[in-house]
Amino acid sequence: MRSYLLIIALASMLVIVASGCSGPATVDPTPTEAFPESPTIEIPSEVAETPTPTVEATEVITPAQEAPDTYHLSYDITAWLDYSQKTAEIEQGITITLLPTDIRTLVMVVEPNRYPNGMVLNRIDVGQLRIENYSLTGNQLQFDLPERSQSPDPLQIQLNYTLHLPAIPPPSEMFKPQPYGYTDRQLNLVDWYAFIPPLDEQNEWIVHKPPIFGESLVYPAADFTVDLEITGNNVPLTVAASSAAVRTENRYQYRLTQARTFAVSMSPDYEVLVNEAAGVTVKAYAFQNSRIPNQAVVAYAAQAAALYTEIFGPLPHQEVSIVQADFLDGMEFDGLYFVSKGFYDLFDGSLNGYLSLITVHEMAHQWWFGVVGNDQALEPWLDEGLATFAELQYLERYYPDQVDWWWAYRVNFYQPDGYIDQSIYDYPSYIAYRNSVYLRSAKFLYELREQVGVEGFNDALRRYREKENRKISDADAFWSVFESLPGYPFSELRGGYFKNLP
Ligand SMILES: [Zn+2]
Repeated sequence: MRSYLLIIALASMLVIVASGCSGPATVDPTPTEAFPESPTIEIPSEVAETPTPTVEATEVITPAQEAPDTYHLSYDITAWLDYSQKTAEIEQGITITLLPTDIRTLVMVVEPNRYPNGMVLNRIDVGQLRIENYSLTGNQLQFDLPERSQSPDPLQIQLNYTLHLPAIPPPSEMFKPQPYGYTDRQLNLVDWYAFIPPLDEQNEWIVHKPPIFGESLVYPAADFTVDLEITGNNVPLTVAASSAAVRTENRYQYRLTQARTFAVSMSPDYEVLVNEAAGVTVKAYAFQNSRIPNQAVVAYAAQAAALYTEIFGPLPHQEVSIVQADFLDGMEFDGLYFVSKGFYDLFDGSLNGYLSLITVHEMAHQWWFGVVGNDQALEPWLDEGLATFAELQYLERYYPDQVDWWWAYRVNFYQPDGYIDQSIYDYPSYIAYRNSVYLRSAKFLYELREQVGVEGFNDALRRYREKENRKISDADAFWSVFESLPGYPFSELRGGYFKNLP
């Protein structure tokens, strides 16, 4: 049994610093006291049996559904990572097909350049042409494209750059938790390559300013080929990534099609637990002293993957990795997500804490972020609201007697208020953002479901997933799948939650 003081200390730390995807990382121990009968979950021993009935994928994603309604992107990245030096040499090819010919300037998002000396750009070629004039400031690399013909030939870009990975700072009140970089036991490559943002309706590149809280990057789906060679490690490393590797000694080769992001995390200290659900392999990577909570994580994650496959539709990727974050936040990437070490430390063997909720929340982002993208900065309620609501859907299915606990502990305790449909820049504080975008959105989705019925609601979500598959969705697209349902356009209900009404 952990001391109460430690829990309080960790709790206050989490209250202060959490600002990323998982939102309410406010671990306040008080609400649980009203619910003493916490169920203990069945923790699988070793590489577990599936804790849930296997749900067959009932739908095959056809090529027609995969076709994005915009240009097509593929990244071909070769990375030589020196683990001891914390540097990486990157040779990156980018192929863009069907880019509108009136686009004269290319903008790329280069998050590593936000860190001091984080990125040294060595070379840019477009086709056979060397680009000498470019601007590289903040997280943006910009240059004019050479004259292009009207033909739909793909645009070939080749970049060469060096990354100097930043140290992940200890938790602080001053900064947003940082997944990218390294600690003494973890190295994370997230948003580590140059990526092309989407275009808006006026053919302007969508790049938002870095946020104080929340997420601001918008990712068009892309095909990834990643070839990672690791040197400079004195001890064997365990490497987690957004897809399964073909490994030859220190070389890891990956392919991932139509994904938002490609993330990698490695450690000399990971243990991995594996589970299967609904055709998805779930791999849970945690530090060796976190084996017990990691057994719970892999079980929760497999349950969630099975349920979401059933309700939302199949996941296009074959595996999802969950990584114990050596920073105090949860964060989703396609095919891989992080869950804060703080929640592993606070795990008491019961469902009633944030380890379960954040594990299933982040899993839901594989659908509401991965499969269906959205502008995380301007309409964060779309992915965060649906992911928070998915926590409730998870409990309703597997632990229905804990639903009241969830409302009290996760939502109502914070007395959420405020419009849910504002941008991350509009909320005056992280707490205000979290309360509205995560918690009040979940209340709204619940009331919407009450109005249209569970069957109609789930059917609408499924149609939303099908219609917006691999696209960048928006509120209009969300509402369009509810048009045929009784009560549409739900003016009274929406008036209480939305600032922007049709
Ligand atoms: Zn989230």
